[in-house]
Amino acid sequence: MACVKRGRRERSRESQNVESVGRTGKTGAVGAMHAIFGRPAMAVQRAILHVDMDAFFASVEVRDDPRLRGKPVLVGGGGRRGVVATASYEARRFGCRSAQPMAQALKLCPEAVVVAPRHGVYVEVSQQVFDVFARFSPLVEGLSIDEAFLDISGTERLLGTPRQVAEALKAEVKATTALTCSVGIASVKFLAKIASGMNKPDGITEIPPGTELAFLTPLPVGALWGVGPRTEQRLEQRGIRTVGDLRRLGEKTLTDWLGAHGQHLYRLSAGLDERAVIPDREAKSISNEDTYAVDVVGVEALRQRLLSQATRVADRLVAEGRKARCVHLKIRDIHFVTESRQCTLPRPVNDHRAIYEAACRLLDSVETEGRSFRLTGVGVADFDAGSAPVQLGLFDAPREMREIREAPRKESLQEVMSAVRKRFGHQALFPGDAGSERRLGSSGAITHTRPVAGEETEAGTDARRGEAKADGGKGRGRGRLGSGP
Ligand SMILES: [Mg+2]
Repeated sequence: MACVKRGRRERSRESQNVESVGRTGKTGAVGAMHAIFGRPAMAVQRAILHVDMDAFFASVEVRDDPRLRGKPVLVGGGGRRGVVATASYEARRFGCRSAQPMAQALKLCPEAVVVAPRHGVYVEVSQQVFDVFARFSPLVEGLSIDEAFLDISGTERLLGTPRQVAEALKAEVKATTALTCSVGIASVKFLAKIASGMNKPDGITEIPPGTELAFLTPLPVGALWGVGPRTEQRLEQRGIRTVGDLRRLGEKTLTDWLGAHGQHLYRLSAGLDERAVIPDREAKSISNEDTYAVDVVGVEALRQRLLSQATRVADRLVAEGRKARCVHLKIRDIHFVTESRQCTLPRPVNDHRAIYEAACRLLDSVETEGRSFRLTGVGVADFDAGSAPVQLGLFDAPREMREIREAPRKESLQEVMSAVRKRFGHQALFPGDAGSERRLGSSGAITHTRPVAGEETEAGTDARRGEAKADGGKGRGRGRLGSGP
């Protein structure tokens, strides 16, 4: 086992992937459509859909438990440090929203029903939803577990107008999952994203080509991707409140004032956004984090938490049919000192034991003596899709050889255990999970990291996902118009 820091090589490989996928995606599928329909690429009006499930986690819970219907529902961890992952629309009427401390949400809406998240189920439903998306376009770019862009440019003769596509897609999502989604239709990505938030729930909002400026002009500047509360405040001090105000400043003034960011904002305010829909559904990491109501003291207690988390992560790996080579540990003490460690395993794994043991070895390098901890997290990355047989190396350490030999047995055991837990709940095969009653904010993050050139990475600190990872756009553009899953 070699401890490594996330290096330059890995990052550059990721960005290369994104670029090459983007290129082949654009010229591949759309190019093929142009070949079929004999239209030159330049003449095709771009049509982008942004599809966002409505109050995703809460809607899944209400679907599966009809007693919750019509009630304000808060999905998330209870107790002092819990956070809201998703609030149902009934709860939103009281001012509840995602990433809010649970205690605050309950103050706003004391009658709300708090439901613990079931990430395994959400992942499964997400998979069904994305399978539906894939039937409408080969160009699907997932932004998070419950939202995606679809490029449907050039499909009008085949599938109908963009609005007809959106209607058919909504109907198919409903038929498959019994859930609703909202769709935004526009010629560029960021407008489609804004549009999907305008008619929630169960809505379609179309910004027809040529009406972009009229649509944008009256919107508050915070609606633009990359305008966070800080930028918004700076703009407001200069009397700039709407996107129209921003555009009237002109590109030069904005660039002089805010640099490249200003130029980017100007372009958005003018409805310009050439970013392609990049079909990359691969999550880059899977992790599970818990914030505890009662501080965790001592190595044994910490290990117990890591075992529970490693199990959850393994279940997700099995659910997605993947294995991972890299294991990471995150730990935060009561003084908010956060440490993270990661290591690379000799072979990709999906069994909880291997992940747990790696996490424990990482924990060994953390000073735990005399410290109390409020958060632990276990994650995996560096996925390996295939399950090719592993060649035993001549000089492999005996323990590694044993691990490799036992791998197929461990994997099938893991699959059985994951299936049982999926059906009967986490406790069914995990009675030793003493941390479960005291677990508050629990976050199972599928982290999509898709660096897109020119896109601002506003720090979308989302308590549900923890602060460790960029959330691939989920925090972006949320402003007043977006909503949680
Ligand atoms: Mg959503």
